[in-house]
Amino acid sequence: MKKVDILAIGVHPDDVELSCAGTLLKHMQLGYTVGILDLTHGELGTRGSGPLRLKEAEAAAAILGISERVNIGIPDGFFENNVANKLKIIEVVRECKPDIVLANAIEDRHPDHGRSAGLIYDACFLAGLSKVETVSRTGEKQAKWRPRVIYNYVQDKMLIADLIVDITPFMDQKMQSILAYSSQFYDANSNEDESPISGKDFLEYIKARAQSYGRQIGVSYGEGFTASRPIGVNDILKLH
Ligand SMILES: [Zn+2]
Repeated sequence: MKKVDILAIGVHPDDVELSCAGTLLKHMQLGYTVGILDLTHGELGTRGSGPLRLKEAEAAAAILGISERVNIGIPDGFFENNVANKLKIIEVVRECKPDIVLANAIEDRHPDHGRSAGLIYDACFLAGLSKVETVSRTGEKQAKWRPRVIYNYVQDKMLIADLIVDITPFMDQKMQSILAYSSQFYDANSNEDESPISGKDFLEYIKARAQSYGRQIGVSYGEGFTASRPIGVNDILKLH
């Protein structure tokens, strides 16, 4: 992956689209570079399969106009915050050198999300230690790199946001990217088992959630994030 300003990391392909695709689109329009790192293939999802979700993730990235997307294929559901998984994330972070990382929700209905948030936090910290040695995919020793800050996007469980990004102009494109995961979300022709996210009401809820965060900052649609430390700003007039 090339150097990016923002790296959005999700444990399941579709976490990023559901929770922070609007923020990525907005910052791309502002001229920043973005990438996506998926940790698993999402092979334990009620619907679909790992290979299908990888194809859907590619289609979603194309809708968002994001060319930098990688998947490190750790096991869905049963992954641990262990040395091997941390090193896989460290290698990607050192390769694409993000200034800001957007990561899974610190707590959520799905236990993978909070566990992933801890794994990402630890990996980003360790990536900044020179004595943690890793090599690139082309075999060179990697230099240390620590992202400036990690923001955790809000997922299913409603959390009080520390930061809300106005995504109003990008709401439709975000919804299109979500619909690329046709095995996961509402599809009138699907014969697969229902899941908590497969109904039409779930897509309406995603919009309602964005409206709710948007309303808190006086805009139509927003995406909410929590921060692990106070947010420092240079120009308070640039804030909503
Ligand atoms: Zn997920």
